This record gives sequence, structure tokens and C-alpha cells, in this order.
Amino acid sequence: MREKILIVEDEKDIIKMLDYNLKKEGFKVIDARDGEDALDLAVREFPDLILLDLMLPGIDGLEVCKALKKETKTASIPIIMLTAKGQESDKVVGLELGADDYITKPFSPRELVARIKAVLRRATEKEKLPEIFQAGDLRIDFSRISVTVNGKAATLTAKEFELLKTLLKAKGRVLSRDYLLDTIWGFDHAMEIQTRTVDVHIRTLRKKLKSESRRIITVKNYGYRFEGED
Ligand code: CA
Repeated sequence: MREKILIVEDEKDIIKMLDYNLKKEGFKVIDARDGEDALDLAVREFPDLILLDLMLPGIDGLEVCKALKKETKTASIPIIMLTAKGQESDKVVGLELGADDYITKPFSPRELVARIKAVLRRATEKEKLPEIFQAGDLRIDFSRISVTVNGKAATLTAKEFELLKTLLKAKGRVLSRDYLLDTIWGFDHAMEIQTRTVDVHIRTLRKKLKSESRRIITVKNYGYRFEGED
């Protein structure tokens, strides 16, 4: 799975440099030129990490950070702040607001990539699933890749299992069709026909989950979420 990074920066040259270096490392890159755009993209694209410049036109970086951490949909996305020398106090405020790390300009792409990888690694560890998940009649054993409903085995295909796992990992957050498609099938550009792939697999997955299919909730015109609580 290629991780998606959102760059929030108004300086074209820096975006260009980051875009080049991050793509070279195999990341998917999207960018926003101002705070509003950043908030919008963070919700729609649900990136794995946000590189946030603090000096932005309009809503500044700290405000963006605060807003991202306040919104349930985006609160768990790790943030690395890009700061300029002399912004020491902003850096501290940012970390207090929930940013994960910061890097001071000018920085070497190599150092930045190392920081990104470290933050992503920590985030994945935090998101680790238990070996066995149980809710109601649904029991998922991740080490054996087995699913049972009311004690009876449900035979899931590899993609259906991935889909279930991805939804579960989101801990109740809504995942867009594009995100699911990208994560599970790895398509770069989701087209109409491809987004339907997700719906088709959701349908067969629900069928197999029988009474527990109610846990997969459709969010109209957007995507799906998993309800783990009863
Ligand atoms: Ca800037």
C-alpha cells in the first residue's frame, strides 16, 4: 500500500521539491496551497500524513492544526509541521495542539523522509489491531484470517477480508470509496466503474456476514464505516 501524504504549503518551489522527493520514495502526494484547501482535502482524501507549513496565507498553520485535531474524521492523521527559524514558540504550540513532529526550514529531503517514515511507523503501531476482534456474533481472527458469525465460518475472499480489516482499523471513521479502492486495490485514479468495485465487494461481504452485516454502514454518496459497538 502506498501511503498518501498531503503537503500544505504556499511556496511553489518547496511543493515541487517535496513532491519530487516523496514520489521518489514511493509515496502518493497531494497538495494544498492554503489552510481552507488543506482542511477540505484532509476530510475528502484522508491522507496518511500531513506536512503542514505554519506560514500560510489566510488561516495559518497552527489554526489548521487545531481544526484538524478537533474534527473526529481527521484527528488521527499524523502531522509534521514545517517551521522557519525563529518560530520556536509556534513549534511548541503546534506540538501542544497535537502535531507529531516538526522540521525546520531549510531541511534536507533525506532528513524529512526519515522523519516521515518514523512518524508513520509510530502511527501504524498505534493502530495495530488485536489478534482477535469480537463484537456481537462476529468474531475475526486476524492471525488465522478467519471470520465466524454466530460460530459458523464465513468464507471471505482475500479482498473481502482486506475490506473488513480496513473498515475495522478506521475505528468507526467513515472511509470514502476512493480511499478503499486506493488502499485495497491500489488504483491511482478512481473512475466511476472502479468505485463500483467497492460497492460490489461490500455487497458480497455483507451477505457473508449475515446478521452482523448491520455493522457495515453506508454513508450516502461517500463511503462506508464499521460499527464495532452494539
Ligand atoms: Ca509558507
